[in-house]
Amino acid sequence: MRPAILTPVFATAQSLEGVGPRVVDLLKKALRQSQDAHEPRVLDLLKHCPTGVVDRSFRPQIKDATPGVIATLQIRVLKHNAPPGKSRAPYRVICEDETGRIALVFFRANARYLQKQLPMGEIRVVSGRVEQYGDALQMPHPDYIVPLDEIDRMPLIEPVYPMTAGLSPKVLVHAIDQSLSRLPDLDEWQDGAWLRQQGWGGFRESLVHIHKPESAADLSLNGAPRRRLAYDELLANQLALAIVRRSMQAAPGRSVEGNGEITKKILSALPFELTRSQKGAFEEIKADMAGKGRMLRLLQGDVGSGKTVVALLAMAVANEASAQSALMAPTEVLARQHYKTIEPLAVAAGLEVALLTGRDKGRGRRDMLERLEDGKIDILIGTHAIFQEDVAYKNLAFVVIDEQHRFGVHQRLALQAKGGAQGVETLVMTATPIPRTLLMTHYGDLEVSKLLEKPAGRKPITTRAVALDRLDDVLQGLGRAIESGAQIYWVCPLVEESEVLRITPAEERYAHLRQYFGDKVALVHGQMKGEEKDEVMRAFSEGETAVLVATTVIEVGVDVPNATIIVIEHAERFGLSQLHQLRGRVGRGERQSSCILLYDKPLGNTAKSRLDIMRRTEDGFLIAEEDLRLRGGGEILGARQSGEASFNLAEIPDFKELLEAAHDDAALILNRDPGLKSDRGRALRNLLYLFDRDEAVLLFRAG
Ligand code: ADP
Ligand code: MG
Repeated sequence: MRPAILTPVFATAQSLEGVGPRVVDLLKKALRQSQDAHEPRVLDLLKHCPTGVVDRSFRPQIKDATPGVIATLQIRVLKHNAPPGKSRAPYRVICEDETGRIALVFFRANARYLQKQLPMGEIRVVSGRVEQYGDALQMPHPDYIVPLDEIDRMPLIEPVYPMTAGLSPKVLVHAIDQSLSRLPDLDEWQDGAWLRQQGWGGFRESLVHIHKPESAADLSLNGAPRRRLAYDELLANQLALAIVRRSMQAAPGRSVEGNGEITKKILSALPFELTRSQKGAFEEIKADMAGKGRMLRLLQGDVGSGKTVVALLAMAVANEASAQSALMAPTEVLARQHYKTIEPLAVAAGLEVALLTGRDKGRGRRDMLERLEDGKIDILIGTHAIFQEDVAYKNLAFVVIDEQHRFGVHQRLALQAKGGAQGVETLVMTATPIPRTLLMTHYGDLEVSKLLEKPAGRKPITTRAVALDRLDDVLQGLGRAIESGAQIYWVCPLVEESEVLRITPAEERYAHLRQYFGDKVALVHGQMKGEEKDEVMRAFSEGETAVLVATTVIEVGVDVPNATIIVIEHAERFGLSQLHQLRGRVGRGERQSSCILLYDKPLGNTAKSRLDIMRRTEDGFLIAEEDLRLRGGGEILGARQSGEASFNLAEIPDFKELLEAAHDDAALILNRDPGLKSDRGRALRNLLYLFDRDEAVLLFRAG
């Protein structure tokens, strides 16, 4: 398993001096770890990069100490002014040099301690921020007080780490110091010529530069140490993806080829013609499935471009080849939605479809699993529940994954295992046009089919931005629309976890709208039970209610063609792609649709640009590009992505260039040494472990 040499850095942070359970909790926060992440390890501390430095190299005389800056002063202690009795006034120690005086100021001081630290008449070196107080200078709570002969204890350049309230910088620095000394000597995994060309040092050397900077330049995001470490992380990512990809291609695949009978039935059951894009994408997928390797293909298409039908046709091909297929959606609501779309068409073609979510338990679930194992179910639709351990397929050949940003390498491997020795063909569907860089960090290589046009007959959606203080006008307009039979989504933002509210904005808006429109208004939110949610959704999609107040994107991930108006409250708080996704819930029927973006004044610049773009265009690809521009590239690699695709060291300005290099490098490495068996190969295995990309290593064993 994991090479023994790495054991010291995989130890938990608790094994470090000064780190107990309380500090561990604080470290988790400071390291921005997600709740369910493993306990912080020595390794994680090593990767916790400072964001800047405190520079103590300014060593003026007192008269030149500028208020507001960090200064290191050599002073003589003149006298101690303790506050009288119970006074809350601070304890002041007056000090001097040949040029002037300065007071060291301590609130809630321990007099005995200070007298020991700063004995009268002695020389001390103190370092901290200098302040002006009236016409005197003072230094509140110096960071360092040391005797002259111990001046080496005080670092002239000190790293500043992302912190969290309650965590002491000294504890953190001490923990990181110990972590550095636990890092074993590892063989270099990077190519020597490449390192020289880039001017990069070794892994350890780079970490030392980062944690013990000699100048701010050591921490620069464009500097050698950060770039080297960013490249390590990107190479680990690209190498892992390439290993997975190659092992799938090398593994016995299947050639899934149909006779066209079932797809023909589905096509004739469709109430419409496929668009040219849909036909093209289906042909590409079909050819890929018929090929010997294991397919990994992305189907990209804007909301409403008709991806589901394409996916269904591809599933039908698998069924023609006497195999099963499965579709996995990220949420229960979306799984249900797909089921609703697919089931009637599949039934018309003689296929058996089932829906499996986390909600299915007991008897019903057992029966379903039995029918699945017997091969009676042709298509299984559901959430990640469809890949749980006890779910066995008779002959799974094809899997569709919808909207899968949250789906990582190990899940993909688990999925492959469901297909037995021959694995499965995978189609990933997404409505968010994913930039090439993001695709690369998630997949390394994969094929892409795009749906560029929308089904004919779609009318453009009119989008308006309206300030909240004109809410009454909006409500009057909606009243008229409801009378003429329109249905409306009303979306409220989720509350931040930090906001403790008695009643959520959605509940509040729901109560408010009921005063206007009575029981035509319904509410759906995340805390509701599954069955309750279904009932509300059913009533809305069958037109029993006219206004649906909802909290998140997820709850409105539905297809109700009669819904023609969407109001998005606090639109300024939503990201562009999210707004676009939400807006795509309307404009699905024959009638003219509209979107009202309600915003709270005043609008910041970015928020304003976002709303402007929304008004100007409905082109999802354009919107995604703008989104990326407004958010900056760092977000792509940020921790907000799924755990596995997340990066921390690679968040540097020109990661794209390094990513491309790492992509090519990974291919080169595996061409030369497919099993990572050479000396460098073994060093690269360490790299994979150090960046938690080691699932890929297991494939060498299996293959
Ligand atoms: P997506 O998943 O890409 O957002 P869907 O597959 O849910 O889009 O399709 C949106 C709607 O468009 C559905 O109601 C679907 O039946 C319909 N649709 C799909 N393809 C066509 C087409 N070629 N012509 C007309 N309507 C279509
Ligand atoms: Mg869809």
